[in-house]
Amino acid sequence: MRFSRLLIPTTKETPNDATLASHIYLIRGGFIQSVGGSGLYNFLPLGKKVLDKVRAVVKDELDKANCQEVSLSFVTPASLWKESGRFEKYGKELLRFKDRKNNDFILGPTHEEMMVNLVKQTVKSYKQLPLNLYQINLKFRDEIRPRFGLMRGREFLMKDGYSFHTSTEDMEREFTFMEETYKKIFRRLGLDFRVVEADSGAIGGSGSKEFMVLADSGEDTIVVCDACDYGANIEAAVRKEKTCDEEAPEAVFAKFHTPNTKTIDELSEFFHVNPFYLVKTVAKKALYDEGESKIVLFALRGSDDLQEVKASNAVQANELVDVSEEELTKLGLVAGYMSPTIVPENVIVVLDNELKEASSMICGANEEEYHLIGNSFKGVEANYHDVISVQEGDLCVCCGEPLRYTKGIEAGHIFQLGTQYSEALGANFLDENGKSKPMVMGTYGIGVSRLLAAIIEQNHDDKGCIWTKASAPFDLHIIISNIKDEKQVALGEELYESLKAKGLDVLLDDRKERFGSKIKDYELLGVPHAVIIGKKLQDGTVEFVTRKEIVKESVLAENIMNLVEERML
Ligand code: ATP
Ligand code: MG
Repeated sequence: MRFSRLLIPTTKETPNDATLASHIYLIRGGFIQSVGGSGLYNFLPLGKKVLDKVRAVVKDELDKANCQEVSLSFVTPASLWKESGRFEKYGKELLRFKDRKNNDFILGPTHEEMMVNLVKQTVKSYKQLPLNLYQINLKFRDEIRPRFGLMRGREFLMKDGYSFHTSTEDMEREFTFMEETYKKIFRRLGLDFRVVEADSGAIGGSGSKEFMVLADSGEDTIVVCDACDYGANIEAAVRKEKTCDEEAPEAVFAKFHTPNTKTIDELSEFFHVNPFYLVKTVAKKALYDEGESKIVLFALRGSDDLQEVKASNAVQANELVDVSEEELTKLGLVAGYMSPTIVPENVIVVLDNELKEASSMICGANEEEYHLIGNSFKGVEANYHDVISVQEGDLCVCCGEPLRYTKGIEAGHIFQLGTQYSEALGANFLDENGKSKPMVMGTYGIGVSRLLAAIIEQNHDDKGCIWTKASAPFDLHIIISNIKDEKQVALGEELYESLKAKGLDVLLDDRKERFGSKIKDYELLGVPHAVIIGKKLQDGTVEFVTRKEIVKESVLAENIMNLVEERML
């Protein structure tokens, strides 16, 4: 294609609200255009080209894996979401609206209900299963803080797939197969990624994995082991039980006067004891459907921090929020001195798993300026859950080596769903004995438009984008530096036509612009390779440029065709 004929509105202006490289370069390179500055974007020709390339890789690998593409209606009747119970539950991210006949509708933020409804009407027998159906289609989530360009939009392109099975075993087989298929997709896109254990929500289990594109700007903290394969989102990470070399404060059980010891640090200093032997008691308000709420005390070692997602799952809440000191006082709780053992009625207690065998512990007495020493949890029946946040340096549960943190962008998520939706919506099949059973489901998502941002977060420099081979808007960028120079034009045109004929997707910069601004555009757009036809053509040479690291090679003009073919075909 000829640059002079394309709509590529590159600009030097950095958008006001942009902080991430991908956001800045996708706008400055004229790939996308913000609509009203609120998580809505138009894809301009180059952006659409990249989006289609990414989409094609996703589609190709899924089709090879026997998944079948469908396209579901974006506008979803609310009745389906009422059947699954999500119409009420989903919160404000769900855009609800009415048509002229006053019927309720939503814009699909995900399509479990729609797909189950499709399958329910068409699949009746075990003979038609298993089935894996997907679409690559728009989603809408009225995100509270849309930001970072394509990373967190309100309208975005998702590949969402759903599989249907006669048994849990068969669903697990497909889940593993999808994990392998996803790895192929991310490898083909040229991404450095890691598959990690993810939070499965209140459903629990180990049936959820995320595909994290590694990048410092990622919003997710992931815990990884360098000695083995273990990796998990901080929301789901586990560790080998923590121990402490320092001596335990052995004492008989007693109440102790401890003035000014409201924090773990103050208490640790007061007793000269490692926080490992102190109990941290954190109060939260757990929110449930229909405005219900409960106060929960989470107790953990003083050396640990509460992981809120784990904590929320432990009490199957929709959300946890902080409780004010006033509210605590009203309930009979003494802030700074709370205890998991002395608890007013109506307050729930959750103990961290690692307290199960703990002894010689110091905890609050639920009385101003008092703590209890010599507490033992050995043999104590209680509500134990894993609620701690794994820290850097904690030991890997698989191999015992230290864990470390890194940052990732969630680009894909696969999930063992079970029968939750098929039961709610009545998607049953008849088994070999003619018995009706709910289908067992898996669900698999990829953030296709988010991938554009993820690719650039991982591949850019201070000049612009550096697209990977599979995602690049063009294979090669030819720059004619002076359009008035006939020799330069002739060589540029010849190369352009012949390489196109050989199947390369070539961008020819044939504009009447200054050489400097053409180079700046080249660097901003980030096509992996370029040929620069400039002044040195007088001496018979041109330059072959590799965008990554901007490596320039001087090549005899008569050899450039061969070199490009050699390197790129
Ligand atoms: P996040 O935790 O980032 O909000 P999620 O876990 O809510 O994402 P899923 O429901 O798992 O998202 O959706 C599948 C995929 O869709 C995600 O892995 C992500 O790549 C993509 N995605 C989700 N929300 C957005 C968004 N607002 N903008 C762009 N892509 C998104
Ligand atoms: Mg997710």
